[in-house]
Amino acid sequence: MTTTTDVPTLANWGNYPKVKAVVAGPETPEDARAEVLGQDRLIARGNGKCYGDAALAPRVLSTLRLNRLLRFDAENGIVHCESGMLLADLLDVIVPAGWFFHVTPGIKNITVGGAIACDVHGKNHPTKGCFSNWLLDFDLLRADGSVLRCSRTEHTDLFWQTCGGMGWTGVVLAARFQLMRIGSVQMRQMAVRAGNLDELFRAFENHADWPYAAGWVDCLAKGAAFGRGVVYFAEHAEQDAGEPLQYPFRDTRNVPFYAPTWLLNPLSIRLHNYMLFSKAKTGEQLVDLDRYFYPLDRIRNWNRLYGRRGFIQYQFCLPEENSADGIRQILETIRQSRDVPFLSVLKRHGERPPEAVHSFPIRGYSLALDFPRTSTIFELVRRLDELVWQHGGKIYLAKDACSAPRMGRVNPATFGEAKFSSLLRERL
Ligand SMILES: Cc1cc2nc3c(=O)[nH]c(=O)nc-3n(C[C@H](O)[C@H](O)[C@H](O)COP(=O)(O)OP(=O)(O)OC[C@H]3O[C@@H](n4cnc5c(N)ncnc54)[C@H](O)[C@@H]3O)c2cc1C
Repeated sequence: MTTTTDVPTLANWGNYPKVKAVVAGPETPEDARAEVLGQDRLIARGNGKCYGDAALAPRVLSTLRLNRLLRFDAENGIVHCESGMLLADLLDVIVPAGWFFHVTPGIKNITVGGAIACDVHGKNHPTKGCFSNWLLDFDLLRADGSVLRCSRTEHTDLFWQTCGGMGWTGVVLAARFQLMRIGSVQMRQMAVRAGNLDELFRAFENHADWPYAAGWVDCLAKGAAFGRGVVYFAEHAEQDAGEPLQYPFRDTRNVPFYAPTWLLNPLSIRLHNYMLFSKAKTGEQLVDLDRYFYPLDRIRNWNRLYGRRGFIQYQFCLPEENSADGIRQILETIRQSRDVPFLSVLKRHGERPPEAVHSFPIRGYSLALDFPRTSTIFELVRRLDELVWQHGGKIYLAKDACSAPRMGRVNPATFGEAKFSSLLRERL
């Protein structure tokens, strides 16, 4: 059975833009097929945790009821599940059995279909690549109702067009992927405070042997402290002495209502940055998986802190040789503007396999910035786009709401099927 719901304002995580939509929720692959055949235009939607306009359209096929675990091979660490299954629900099954994802984004409340369509990356891109690296195969429902098994050996082009293809090739119904062994639910974390931007890059380079790394940048610091920040490195802790792995951890908090728009202002953000920098616990400590990988999942509805107007996440990646210069210019441009990012995450990336044509990361550094949506933010994005382009970089379509069409370096006219169309695709 397929449920259909009229939603007056549907938005993704950034709460901008918002559309009026009909959301169809098929329960079985056959229901999904009937929905696809019955519509001229629609887009697949997972849990709506992309930030911008990728999972938005007047007609949306929600996969959230296609969420069955079809098989978990606990011997070899292979998951076979429907595409609407959340990583969070998978973790509850795989972690107690001693397995974890090779690649996970900084949020577990996303679907497997969303992970494939955005070809998500984690804090270990140089060694593990994107989600597609560990993907064995998936079943893709196409515009004509056919279902194709796609892998590195079957329908190879479609496989790579779908990984990072933002849902434009069809609806992923189910997928199989490989997990990695872990012996503990703890992570050995080391935090390094960097007094300026050069030190920040040096920290990434000097500790490149840690498998995981992500940094925070104080985008308001100036003078000698320009670009200061903290980098958090980590690795999985050794085997817990014979203890069964206990998961999940549950201590989530909630932001119950939208904050007033004045809450995040230059002064409050400056204070927040000061606390993040000066109170960072440097050195080593043990933290649990959730605290290292999914710190924001512990605060439900944190996007409401930006108020009803929502926010824009701007994430770009620059080639290694241009990263230091480009990020310096971008931070300088932001510092001189009236718009102040509240959150920022700096990551290092490795080589992109040539066949992963739509994957976001390229060898170099990416920076993700969350800006409250103000009347001036679109002009700032235009200027940032220019700088990213000049430095040979690109932006992440999973976060995009308003960048210039060329910035994702993807031309929707060259692949996919017209039936699968989102606001993002129409905008590009
Ligand atoms: C707090 C936070 C942290 C994040 N951290 C990271 C990070 O570290 N790395 C990273 O890469 N991303 C990150 N993201 C982005 C997020 O991981 C991706 O946008 C992910 O795709 C969201 O999954 P979803 O199930 O919510 O998909 P949605 O947001 O619903 O959809 C995303 C895209 O996938 C398509 N899609 C969804 N399901 C299917 C399907 N079954 N078949 C075909 N197409 C489909 C949609 O059409 C859309 O284009 C983060 C997001 C948040 C909110």
